[in-house]
Amino acid sequence: MASLDLPPLRRRLPPRPITRFAPSPTGFLHLGHVANAVYVWGIASALGGRVLLRLEDHDRGRSRPEYERAVLEDLEWLGLVPDVGTPAELRHGPSPYRQSDCDDSFRAALDALIRTEWVYGCDCTRKEIAAEAGDLRNEETRYPGRCRDRGLPVAEGQGIRVVMAEGAETFTDALLGAATQSPAEQCGDLLLRDRTGNWTYQFAVVVDDQRHGVDLVVRGEDLVSSTGRQIRLARMLGRARPPVFLHHPLIRRPDGAKLSKSSGDTGVRELRRAGASPGKVLGQAAWLTGLIERPAELSPAALPSLFGG
Ligand code: GLU
Repeated sequence: MASLDLPPLRRRLPPRPITRFAPSPTGFLHLGHVANAVYVWGIASALGGRVLLRLEDHDRGRSRPEYERAVLEDLEWLGLVPDVGTPAELRHGPSPYRQSDCDDSFRAALDALIRTEWVYGCDCTRKEIAAEAGDLRNEETRYPGRCRDRGLPVAEGQGIRVVMAEGAETFTDALLGAATQSPAEQCGDLLLRDRTGNWTYQFAVVVDDQRHGVDLVVRGEDLVSSTGRQIRLARMLGRARPPVFLHHPLIRRPDGAKLSKSSGDTGVRELRRAGASPGKVLGQAAWLTGLIERPAELSPAALPSLFGG
């Protein structure tokens, strides 16, 4: 049944890794999340590692308590049990595994970066940045550096950026192989906190992967392009050795379109309502991401076998 050959993969992965499942509670879980969970739990158990659950609710405008409750409940229904940051702990109250409870950690990391003198205030709006960047078609918008030398204060009500100096980051993705990325060319100076006070995904994820001791990041291929900048930022924050990254194929709808949180037909809630069992949902996600050849029921205990465990 295994379609991923763990022995060669194992050489690229940390022994007994600490990895994470890190949903943003900005919507309900769908099969894309479940596919990621199959990889995360499957690889961690195949290697005798641990999974931590982290609620990435850094965007306070888009995150909702009802989505958080649903994420925890759907994970329990699927039988996916994290070793750290359990649903019971998270429901109990503030937790180091819920980003909105960890403002102090993000402030401390920001202070450390400010001491490096690579941080500056920025009052650009998204519209201004897009206008200055011009027509990029499908490319990512690169911050053109307008505020870098303006001497704006690093203060509330202002965006906060960190300089991405020229130079490439190289890494070996455990599935995709060697990669080289130049953050200065891809995205320019990174936004750490926006003007409304939200910590950004890039900043929060790097701070958290470091403080949680994550040494293996397993996530979908849509995040590959963020990896170089995250390695750079981690180094600027004093992390000597970045985590190993494994980016897996995304699952697609039968019509080939990318899944989104609004895809009603692939939502875990909808599948549950339609009578699917947890094993069927896990099996469907594993099938749609190419881990098994045909749809089949899969129990959480069977996940390591997909990775040679
Ligand atoms: N919170 C992100 C998401 O829901 C995952 C980030 C990551 O794995 O680095 O897509």
